[in-house]
Amino acid sequence: MGQGHGRDLPFLIAGGGIGGLVAAYALALKGFPVRVLEQSDGFREVGAGIQLGPNIFQALEKIGLKDEILADAWRPGALTMRCGLSGKVITTMPLGAKAEAFFKQPYAVTHRADIHGVFLKACQGNTLISLETKREVAAFLDHGDRVTVTLATGDEIEGRALIGCDGLWSKIREQIVGDGKPRVSGHIAYRAVLKREEVPEDLWQPDMLLYAGPRTHFVQYPLRRGELYNLVAVFHSDHYVEGWNTEGDNQLLYDHFKGQQPQVMRLLERINVWRFWVLCDREPVKNWSKGRVTLLGDAAHPMLQYLAQGACQATEDAVWLAEKVAAQPNDLPAAFLAYQEQRYLRTARVQIMARVYGEFFHARGPTAELRDQMLGARTADQAYDSINWLYGSM
Ligand SMILES: Cc1cc2nc3c(=O)[nH]c(=O)nc-3n(C[C@H](O)[C@H](O)[C@H](O)COP(=O)(O)OP(=O)(O)OC[C@H]3O[C@@H](n4cnc5c(N)ncnc54)[C@H](O)[C@@H]3O)c2cc1C
Repeated sequence: MGQGHGRDLPFLIAGGGIGGLVAAYALALKGFPVRVLEQSDGFREVGAGIQLGPNIFQALEKIGLKDEILADAWRPGALTMRCGLSGKVITTMPLGAKAEAFFKQPYAVTHRADIHGVFLKACQGNTLISLETKREVAAFLDHGDRVTVTLATGDEIEGRALIGCDGLWSKIREQIVGDGKPRVSGHIAYRAVLKREEVPEDLWQPDMLLYAGPRTHFVQYPLRRGELYNLVAVFHSDHYVEGWNTEGDNQLLYDHFKGQQPQVMRLLERINVWRFWVLCDREPVKNWSKGRVTLLGDAAHPMLQYLAQGACQATEDAVWLAEKVAAQPNDLPAAFLAYQEQRYLRTARVQIMARVYGEFFHARGPTAELRDQMLGARTADQAYDSINWLYGSM
């Protein structure tokens, strides 16, 4: 195959989660053909909520999808942290107009299926994108002027370059970074979604509410224009099953939250079936691009969810990747390095700070007292300043 042939081939994207779809769309908007190779038999997201910090809306604005995402989202009036044991308010950060004026973008929460659905529809409506299911990527070969991907079936697909958007257990990362399995944090998340009418009137809160307890926290917020109510309960445990989206043990959950506020226990007990996730992350790295292959989203920088940023960072990645590729389409290895250079310190900071926030949420004893004192003393403007590094840019 002669030099330059690769230029006529599509970009290959391994994985059609939020990261893969938004990367496909951002590249197609720049005029590049893309094939998305998804291992499952469909493109879907799990049934749970997702918080969207103002930074994701900067990225969404650049690809024209901000209003569509906001159409089905919920805009909480505040982020409030309460003590799970006493119920007292530890801190409140007002959202709404004041926060939007500060960060220049809104804060919203949405259903995963809703945001993924917007990306999927956008991709389906773009003739440069081919969405392909039952394509499990097993390995790749970089030929210098193009790449070949080998599927689990043994079939081979050629592309101009490869972007690994294959999540926490990325196969592509194994070949590029080779840093073994993700780090298991010892934290478990139970998630469930209720219909609004299933939530007792006195427990439904329009705001984002987080109960911080010893080695636990419990988050609740409305979804889908207020029609649904999202619950996430996190606790420390060595109970570990690899993978995710597994049915949880309700008694185990109640045991970890025993002694917490009745509002917490009553909501936990409303749920018949919880799904649980074993939370993992990795140490930050700065070598996730090599030749014509790069990584994006959880494949590149998996993080704990305590800053609620994995999908936001994947979306920022996608927009920056498309920018860098469009800036030097004839030197993709350089474009991928420029993308990595743009992203690695910001995403590393989110990876590290997410762990710190986890420590804060789950603090006990004097550490919890110190947290309450520090956070309780902040004004709204100080709270905005403290998170501006994340919410105020992309
Ligand atoms: C409890 C919890 C709460 C969270 N809350 C938030 C939040 O509030 N806000 C936020 O921004 N983020 C949040 N996150 C993080 C967010 O969910 C992830 O960071 C984000 O979904 C990552 O997207 P991704 O596309 O990189 O990976 P994934 O969503 O994992 O998608 C990977 C895709 O690749 C496919 N795939 C995997 N291997 C292969 C293969 N070999 N070949 C082909 N396809 C393959 C998979 O089937 C999947 O479709 C949360 C995460 C958890 C666990």
